[in-house]
Amino acid sequence: MLRRAAAISVHLVGPFWGRKAGASLTRCLHQTLTMAKQLPARRLDGIDHNPWVEFIKLSNEYDVVNLGQGFPDFSPPDFAVKAFQQATSGDFMLNQYTMAFGYPPLTKLLASFFGKLLGQELDPFKNVLVTVGAYGALFTAFQALVDKGDEVIIIEPAFDCYEPMTLMAGGRPVFVSLKPNPAPKGQLDTSSDWQLDPTELASKFTSRTKALVLNTPNNPLGKVFSKAELELVAGLCQQHDTVCIADEVYQWLVYDGHQHVSIASLPGMWGRTLTIGSAGKSFSATGWKVGWVLGPDNIMKHLRTVHQNSVFHCPTQAQAAVAQCFEQEQQHFGQPSSYFLQFPQAMQLNRDHMIHSLQSVGLKPLTPQGSYFLIVDISDFKSTMPSLPGAVDEPYDRRFAKWMIKNKDEATLQAMDERLQKWKAELQP
Ligand code: PMP
Repeated sequence: MLRRAAAISVHLVGPFWGRKAGASLTRCLHQTLTMAKQLPARRLDGIDHNPWVEFIKLSNEYDVVNLGQGFPDFSPPDFAVKAFQQATSGDFMLNQYTMAFGYPPLTKLLASFFGKLLGQELDPFKNVLVTVGAYGALFTAFQALVDKGDEVIIIEPAFDCYEPMTLMAGGRPVFVSLKPNPAPKGQLDTSSDWQLDPTELASKFTSRTKALVLNTPNNPLGKVFSKAELELVAGLCQQHDTVCIADEVYQWLVYDGHQHVSIASLPGMWGRTLTIGSAGKSFSATGWKVGWVLGPDNIMKHLRTVHQNSVFHCPTQAQAAVAQCFEQEQQHFGQPSSYFLQFPQAMQLNRDHMIHSLQSVGLKPLTPQGSYFLIVDISDFKSTMPSLPGAVDEPYDRRFAKWMIKNKDEATLQAMDERLQKWKAELQP
């Protein structure tokens, strides 16, 4: 059998024992190991590139404000900060392992809080799984359900991890696009102008369709799927015996009076839906990395199998802090004092501010109905500047983002620097 040769670079950094006193105790050794066997598992083929890794590195390199990644630049609410402080300084047993599938006070709260919203009596031990962020929830779901050759329908534009997670599980991503219907002249486009074509969506289902990923509010459009759109998706999932992986991490971030509807709450959908949430997104504390999946026990038991054979258990203190946040929110939910009500109101002001800023520099933002994100139409810019530096096979929008990182910030810094120099000169006696 022919095997491909592969090479890895091994960095050994650490104390180098047995050296004479005075010599440096650390040394960095670079070794290149050549293996006759294929080193990476084949399931990694074609998924080694990650846009977040690339763009976060670039934004750090050029010291620019990173607007690409979904996390707040403000503090979580006081009650959440206090909850975390208490979790790390209170009961010393919170430093230890807890139950594999979730810290019981948290799973109980999630079951009661979301049970009411979904119209289901949830068992904290059977219908709830706490994961390492919603990312962990997604990974666990794909690994548990998607088999070699299974098809997974992904609605585009989509959060980028659905595709590699499908591939890593051996599945085949099947894409269906939301299509833009431009707003009447003079009006701003909004994320609700992007819609599914029912005939096209129906044509994507086959006997191999195992799952459909539904992300509402959606990253990156900010689209909040209407009840009618969810009914269309729900009907097709039922007709084709498909599981719906519902990524609802932005469920509290809805603007302009739009309503988030959980697809699991529609008739006939609880039994085939996994509803994924994120404490990071809910309480503006993305670094805590606590997420969850809610679903029927006959599906959840397979997710528990993946979980117990991978991370097994999520950090107890972070889970305890999230439990306290939900306890607090439960007392205010539905009233003006609710964080889940105040948070989108504050974010809507930020969204409007961002829209005006983008318009003021001649760009065309699309008003999101929800989420942290908004997208910008750069086609006018493209017609005046058709060629930007970058690899030929790299899409224009990626080149544009890189060009902005590398050049525009420099220009801004230069302008600021000039202004500073001017002030300094004016201040000279
Ligand atoms: N789903 C979507 C749609 C997201 O945008 C994100 C984070 N950007 C996640 C899941 C992951 O959430 P978490 O930070 O809880 O892992």
